[in-house]
This record gives sequence, C-alpha cells and structure tokens, in this order.
Amino acid sequence: MICATLSQLHADIDARVQAIREAHPEWLCGKGCDGCCRKLAEIPQLTMAEWRLLQEGLAALPLQRLQEIGRVMSALVGQNSHPIVCPLLNQSTNVCPVYAQRPVACRTYGFYIQRELGLYCNEIESRVADGALADVVWGNHDAIDQRLASLGEARALTTWFEHWQNGEFTPTLCALAD
Ligand code: SF4
Repeated sequence: MICATLSQLHADIDARVQAIREAHPEWLCGKGCDGCCRKLAEIPQLTMAEWRLLQEGLAALPLQRLQEIGRVMSALVGQNSHPIVCPLLNQSTNVCPVYAQRPVACRTYGFYIQRELGLYCNEIESRVADGALADVVWGNHDAIDQRLASLGEARALTTWFEHWQNGEFTPTLCALAD
C-alpha cells in the first residue's frame, strides 16, 4: 500500500515530468535509457515510505530473481569503486524490475534540479550548456527533499533489504506520514 503523502508526491512529479516531455518530445530520459541506473554516485537512499512501496515490488518478483538481487546487494556492501550500478537493474535486459515502485530519486532524475548542485545527467547537462534547453521549467529538487523528510528516516537500499531478508520488522509509516 502506498502512503497518501508519497502518492501525492508521485503525482506532482509525474505532472512536472509530463509537462517537460510535452514541451520536448525528444527528451532523453525515458524507457530504454538506463544511464543513471548504471552511474549512481552512491547506493540509493530511500525513506521508509519509499522502501515500503519498493518492498511490495520486490516481493512480487520470482524467488530466483530475488536471490540474485540479494547476492548483488551483498557484493555491493563491500564495494569501494564508483560509479555504482543499481543492484536492482537487470543487467541483461537493462530493465528496472520494480519500475512502478521505484524511489523518488529515480522519478525526478533528469527532470529536477537542485540549488548549488544543478543537473546530474551528463547528456542533459551538455544540452543545457549548448543552450538547447533554455525554456525548460525544471522541477525543484530542494522542495522534493523537504517533502521526503516527512516520509521517515532515509537508509541505504542495501540496509533496508538486509533487514527485510533477516525478517526484521519495518513499521508502517503511512499513519505517521499522512
Ligand atoms: S530502482 Fe530501478 S530505476 Fe531506480 S536506479 Fe535502480 S534500476 Fe534504475
């Protein structure tokens, strides 16, 4: 079950993403591009509400696939090299197996910008530098971060996953967040 607060956040993000896409049908971010999934600066961080949703997607995967993800997660914990490939990405098909339940960061990437830190996708940054995207009304990632702060403590994906696999209880945050 998705929290109403997180559901509203998704809806607001979707509206901004759709507006940018409509104004720029050639937009780079979309199905078939796994560039950001393969170049993560760190292990994805999720709030509790985001994890609860993602967990539903993971629980629906075949057991064998889930076990593969678990092995990749374990290997990632000790990895010091960067960038990081998201442990959820199916590297054979380049598809996210939990796309409908993906974290907020995956939804905003390429469409939202952050004060001081700017853009993130190299492809888009180069187009901005060329002046090709001067009319884009970017989403405000600082505002997203403020809203995420109400959705519980953020932890690394690997930490949430480990707790889940160990059968440790994750409280339902919906009542708190909504
Ligand atoms: S959760 Fe899915 S969309 Fe997000 S980085 Fe991982 S594979 Fe990519």
